[in-house]
Amino acid sequence: MTKIGLEIHCQLTNLESKLFCTCRANYRGYEPNTNVCPICMGLPGTLPLLNQKAVEKATTIAMALNCKTPEKLAFFRKNYFYPDLPKNFQITQLNVYGPTSIGLEGKVLVDEKEIRILRIQLEEDPGRLIYEGSSEKTQITLVDYNRAGTPLVEIVTEPDFENPKQVRLFLNMLSDLLENLSVSDPELEGAIRADVNVSIQGGKRVEIKNIGSFHDLEKAIHFEITRQESLAARNIQIIQETRHWDEQRKITISARRKEEELEYRYFLEGDIPWILIDSQTLDRLKNDMPESIISKKERYISKYKIPSQVAEVLSSDKFYSDMFEQVRDETNVKDVANIITTDLMGLVDTKEKRENSKLTPQHLVELVNAIKSNKITRTAAKIALKEIVKSGKTLSDVISELDLVHVSDASELTRIIDQVLSEEIIAVEQAKTNPDTINYLIGKVMQKTKGNADPKLTLSIIQKKIQT
Ligand SMILES: [Zn+2]
Repeated sequence: MTKIGLEIHCQLTNLESKLFCTCRANYRGYEPNTNVCPICMGLPGTLPLLNQKAVEKATTIAMALNCKTPEKLAFFRKNYFYPDLPKNFQITQLNVYGPTSIGLEGKVLVDEKEIRILRIQLEEDPGRLIYEGSSEKTQITLVDYNRAGTPLVEIVTEPDFENPKQVRLFLNMLSDLLENLSVSDPELEGAIRADVNVSIQGGKRVEIKNIGSFHDLEKAIHFEITRQESLAARNIQIIQETRHWDEQRKITISARRKEEELEYRYFLEGDIPWILIDSQTLDRLKNDMPESIISKKERYISKYKIPSQVAEVLSSDKFYSDMFEQVRDETNVKDVANIITTDLMGLVDTKEKRENSKLTPQHLVELVNAIKSNKITRTAAKIALKEIVKSGKTLSDVISELDLVHVSDASELTRIIDQVLSEEIIAVEQAKTNPDTINYLIGKVMQKTKGNADPKLTLSIIQKKIQT
């Protein structure tokens, strides 16, 4: 049986400051080595000051993943030398003197499979090495310490995944969960990174590091399973090792063997006292936790009678569910849900588009009401929505500027249909025996009216005209 385990690193990007100093937690967009101070540069004589908010946010993640949260937390030094680590040790957590990391023994259900969470720990992100060209051939390596000390939550799962698909579903779930908790923005480059370990029946555990995206992670797992199975088929032993993912060639390459593994000489970080989390704090964090995606979905289905698939899409994305929550009591909920999950989704599918969107909840209410009262057609609403997202103009302005007034006047529509039928003599003949051709004729009427013709009325007029 194939066993896959994950080690996920997610940055708490929504915090103001780093884990042990007041530099910005979100280092992106700044000149290299400008988001630094003596503490995160590890200068002698400095002392770390723990960011209490980071402990709370990490604890919230642990609770959301159904982990146990110890009352006492401790930090440890993990000693190793690497240019991206100015102190020569990383402050992290370890459970050697009993459970002292942020969370332990959690579990979540993914695709009806229980995935156990071994532990969750809080640590600091190292700096970033920037290579000129590829990392193997480069002559020059630059270091940017802007990221050094960013609060990082490490989530380690048991090797409970059986295939790459389960891994993908889990990571999607996790990234939605982090967004829903407002602790991290998964769309930011490098905000969530994962290492993976893979073993097949009878083989040793192989760890793959350095995987840049979720998409590549799935490919790396596929590759590694195939590689190990091919070795096993030829009776070649699978050794325990760490492999790197080669992004260009889409293969894994051996990096270091078990016997070469580093000895980190962990010891207690004496500069940070043990942290006590009392039950009052835990209660407060629990109360402040936003509604989970699962419970949101269930509420949308049971209370608003929204179809399960639509509810799933709506609840798993914070941007859309926030929008929905703001307007759900103002107008027809099902229509709002539909417009958000069909039309709006295509218009604001990136972070940048969302930030630039001029759409307000009020716009959505007006739009749904206009469709309901037959003021505009569904097709016209789609055109109007696109314009509103771009310009933020009022619906009535958009309707008059783009000439989107609903053509539901039978005599006006009959005039347009007569014109279409006279231009489409062959199609009219075919429509008498083939109902599919009627759709083609409706399409032509829609084209002429820029989507403003009432579809039901159009159909009934065309049907009558063809039958006679
Ligand atoms: Zn700093």
